Amino acid sequence: MRFVVTAGPTREAIDPVRFISNRSSGKMGYAIAEAAIAKKHEVTLISGPVALTPPGGAEFIAITTAEELYRAVHQSLRHCDVFVMCAAVSDYKPAAPSVRKLTKNKTAFALKLVPTRDILASLPKRRRYLVIGFAAETHDLKINAQKKLHGKNCDAIVANDVSGSETGMESDENEVTIFFRNGENRKISRAPKKIIARELVKIIAKMWEKSLTKKSW
Ligand code: C5P
Repeated sequence: MRFVVTAGPTREAIDPVRFISNRSSGKMGYAIAEAAIAKKHEVTLISGPVALTPPGGAEFIAITTAEELYRAVHQSLRHCDVFVMCAAVSDYKPAAPSVRKLTKNKTAFALKLVPTRDILASLPKRRRYLVIGFAAETHDLKINAQKKLHGKNCDAIVANDVSGSETGMESDENEVTIFFRNGENRKISRAPKKIIARELVKIIAKMWEKSLTKKSW
């Protein structure tokens, strides 16, 4: 199978030295890429700025902004069986990034933000690849994950609770529940991200096999 995996945060410039970003470490996405390579799948890893070494054996594309990620994803999806959208895309970006460093003064100021493009929502409804989204939630995990599964037209959503410090963003461990379109879900109990990634790759491979037997594929 040909995997396209996105990982890490995006950065949206405020000025040449400042940006808006988030705490994504990229560990989950990199672990998925590694697990897929270990199973002899072809992997393209598209990554935001993280402190990790890209796995050997993957085609690697480095991006910084949500717009660059959008373009890299749409290019890579031409050769793809499974798209895993694990990147933590900044939902907003400064409306007008300054070309000069903003100078400090003593008054408050408001930064105007505009939404970035939603990459998952931009994918065609009819397609020949599986789409696996992620949902990092601090509350109402099930409701929010199911909303994203249908709203963003994914084949499955991997949801994790990021309200604590022991699992989720930045951590080496995770605990996830995968929600499928037929209403079923499957929990993978707390484990190192590398173990979770292996399970996910197994589950995705099964989804792929099933999809091949469907007439519409
Ligand atoms: O809406 P939220 O950001 O929580 O949705 C999470 C899922 O949507 C993740 O798979 C994330 O990579 C994806 N996403 C996206 N484009 C955005 C924001 C998030 O594809 N602009």
